[in-house]
Amino acid sequence: MNVYDSERMADLLKPLGFIITELPEDADMVILNTCHIREKASEKVYSELGRIREYKEAKRLKDQNMVIAVAGCTAQAEGEEILRRAKYVDVIVGPQSYYRLPQILAEIERKTVVGEGPGRGILEIDFPVESKFDFLPESAEPQSVSAFLSIQEGCDKFCHFCVVPYTRGAEYSRPVETIYEEACRLVEKGVQEITLLGQNVNAYHGTFSDREGWTLGRLIQYLSKIQALKRIRYVTSHPADVNEEQINAHRDIEKLMPYLHLPIQSGSDRILKLMNRKHTASYYLDVIGKLRSARPDIAFSSDFIVGYPGETDKDFEDTLELVAKVNFASAFSFKYSPRPGTPASVLDDQVPEEVKTERLARLQSLLFEQQTAFNQSFIGKSISVLFEKQGRHPGQLMGRSPYLQSVYVEAAPRLIGQCVNILVTHASQNSLTGTVITQEKIAI
Ligand code: SF4
Repeated sequence: MNVYDSERMADLLKPLGFIITELPEDADMVILNTCHIREKASEKVYSELGRIREYKEAKRLKDQNMVIAVAGCTAQAEGEEILRRAKYVDVIVGPQSYYRLPQILAEIERKTVVGEGPGRGILEIDFPVESKFDFLPESAEPQSVSAFLSIQEGCDKFCHFCVVPYTRGAEYSRPVETIYEEACRLVEKGVQEITLLGQNVNAYHGTFSDREGWTLGRLIQYLSKIQALKRIRYVTSHPADVNEEQINAHRDIEKLMPYLHLPIQSGSDRILKLMNRKHTASYYLDVIGKLRSARPDIAFSSDFIVGYPGETDKDFEDTLELVAKVNFASAFSFKYSPRPGTPASVLDDQVPEEVKTERLARLQSLLFEQQTAFNQSFIGKSISVLFEKQGRHPGQLMGRSPYLQSVYVEAAPRLIGQCVNILVTHASQNSLTGTVITQEKIAI
């Protein structure tokens, strides 16, 4: 979502003459688009700001200005604190208010012209009544043949460990027409794969011609009619929101990739209840079973939190058991880190750090074993790969399989942007390598 938002910010600022630079020391404006999901990510904001401050100071000595903006969820959650601790920050904008950046810059410019001086940074973190999507310009040139498209934002689930409902706000679904138009524009500009984004993407309930009731499954069905669009993905789903239309979409729509990120967080019903996850482990397994019946070759990834307050050895064993039952193709797993303002952060029975470390190592060892075995199951088989860019080595291209695996192949650069059949020759925990067996474009 932050990648998508960063691109939209660049689109907003382009008409004002801004272009993206890889060199922050030369920039007229630096935007830190931040994440607040874990402690480490938000701590990083202050160390990055310290570095950028030096660039700003160097420019000031040359009588030049640099505007420093902090955007994203840390800005939303800790905007006041950032302005207090880093007085050189000029702008704080939240994830729902960054569309106002051009007006904010105009205000800074006005202050400079009338000699009001920098003063206190501008804080723009109220949740606006209007949707930011109504104010965002058309996306400029996509960076890749694979693009993100935000269809839903915010969350009403209030899991007890999560800041998203407080930083991104209430659930909002974009109307079908605007999503379809954006998808068509992306495809016209050469995009072949679209990943539909939402904090709770399968809670999508957008309108079409002012009528409510479009589900994610129906939306995917509609988007799949865009002929030149080759692949559709979506992320992130909540198990409690999986419905029949979503499952049927995996059964019926060939363009929908057979890979689903479905976070569970814990395999213990007791912990799931404490987390306010609104589903049980057996419900999750039932959903997995239905999806596998609908699309036998579907693979799953998930998110896990270990050491949630109150997690016992037995709860953790339940998580390992669930992982063994599902057999994941990949997963993200983290130690629980308290996020200020969330109900879990004030619970007494926090799990000691060394216990969390030990449990995470055990869980990751199992998950990595499953991921490696999943990747190795492709050796000697043919898969379609959408080439996205040059690889790490000369003459090498990097692409993605239907299962989002990174695939490295020695191939001609002209194949970038094409779906090509690959024979997999080698697999590691994180990637596949192979050789081109046909250069014909194929369906997925
Ligand atoms: S459903 Fe996801 S985004 Fe919403 S509160 Fe839970 S973890 Fe956060």
